[in-house]
Amino acid sequence: MSKEPDPKEVAEQTEDPSERKPGRLSRLRFSKKKDMPGGLWLKCENCSSLIYRKELEAAGRVCPSCSFHFTLPGRQRVQSLLDPGSWEEVFADITGLDRLSFTDKIPYSEKLAKTAERLGQNEALICGRGSIEGRSVILAVLDFSFMGGSMGEVVGEKLALASDLARVEGRPLVIFTSSGGARMHEGALSLMQMAKTCSALQSLSDAGGMSICVMTHPTTGGVTASFASVCDLVLAEPGALIGFAGPRVIAATLKQELPPGFQRAEFLIKKGMLDGLVSRSELRPMLGRLLDYAKGSHVGGDVEDDLAADEVPNRLSGGRTDSRTPSERGKVRLDVPSAESSN
Ligand SMILES: [Zn+2]
Repeated sequence: MSKEPDPKEVAEQTEDPSERKPGRLSRLRFSKKKDMPGGLWLKCENCSSLIYRKELEAAGRVCPSCSFHFTLPGRQRVQSLLDPGSWEEVFADITGLDRLSFTDKIPYSEKLAKTAERLGQNEALICGRGSIEGRSVILAVLDFSFMGGSMGEVVGEKLALASDLARVEGRPLVIFTSSGGARMHEGALSLMQMAKTCSALQSLSDAGGMSICVMTHPTTGGVTASFASVCDLVLAEPGALIGFAGPRVIAATLKQELPPGFQRAEFLIKKGMLDGLVSRSELRPMLGRLLDYAKGSHVGGDVEDDLAADEVPNRLSGGRTDSRTPSERGKVRLDVPSAESSN
C-alpha cells in the first residue's frame, strides 16, 4: 500500500489561510518548508520564490514566478470549473466506517469526524452534476485537504456511483484527482476500491460513455494505479507529481539517481502515460472542446437534454448511436503542443 502523506501536514498545506497559526511548520507536499510568520507569505516548492498568499489565491493558486500549479482545495476546484449556479452535489451523505478500529495518534473514527467537521464535508471525494461551458457533466473531485485525498471505501464507492450516474444519465464523467493513494487506515479494504472503481468505469465505457481524468499535483499511489489512469482521456496540470511510490522510495530501492523531472507531468507525457497537459487557466475551454467529442453519441447532451424515463433502460443496456467503439472515441488529438506524443 502506498504511503499517505501525514494528514496533519496535508491539512496545513491546504487549510484556510485565515486559520493558520503563526510560526507553525508548514510542509508543502513532501518537503519541509517553513512558512513566514502569520502565513501571509509562502515559498513556492518549485522555484523557491516567496509568494504573497493573496496574490497566489488571486492567480488561482498558480505561482506568479514559475507557473507551478499548487494543489487546489476541492470546493475551490468545483467553483472555478463549473458554470455558475450549475452545481448540484450528490452522494454527500455517505460516511465512512472504521471497520478495523484503527488507531494511530488518534482513533481513525475520531480523525474522520474531526476532518469532516473542519472541512464541512463527509469525505475526500466530492461528486455532483454540473456544466462546463454549457456542457452537462458528472463531476468527481478528490480533495487533498481531506486526509490527503486518500481513497478508502467511501471514496471508492462514490466514484463508482458517480460513474454509474454518468452511465444512467448519459453525461460524460469528469474526474479531478489529487491524492496520496490508498487510505492506510482501512487496510486491504482501501485496495479493493481500485478494482471497484475500474470496473465501474469499464461499465461506463461499455455503455458508450465518456470519461476524462485530470490529474493534479500530487496524484500518487492507488489512485494513479486505478481509476485515474483508465479514463478515456487522461490529462494533467503542468508540474503535477504523478506516480505510484514516491521518488525518494524508488531512488532508495534502486540505489541510483532518478532522471531529471522524474514523475512530473512533463516527463510522463513523453512516456505516453498522459494524453495532454492543460494549464489551469485553459482547463474550462479545453474540457468544453473535449466534451464536444462526446456529442453525436448518447452521452454529452445539452444541459437542457432531459432524459425521458423510458430511455434510461435502453442506455443501461448499452444501446448507442455512435458507431465508434469507446476506445476509438477516446483517441482524439488534443489541441496542445505537448500532446503530440500521445496516441
Ligand atoms: Zn514558483
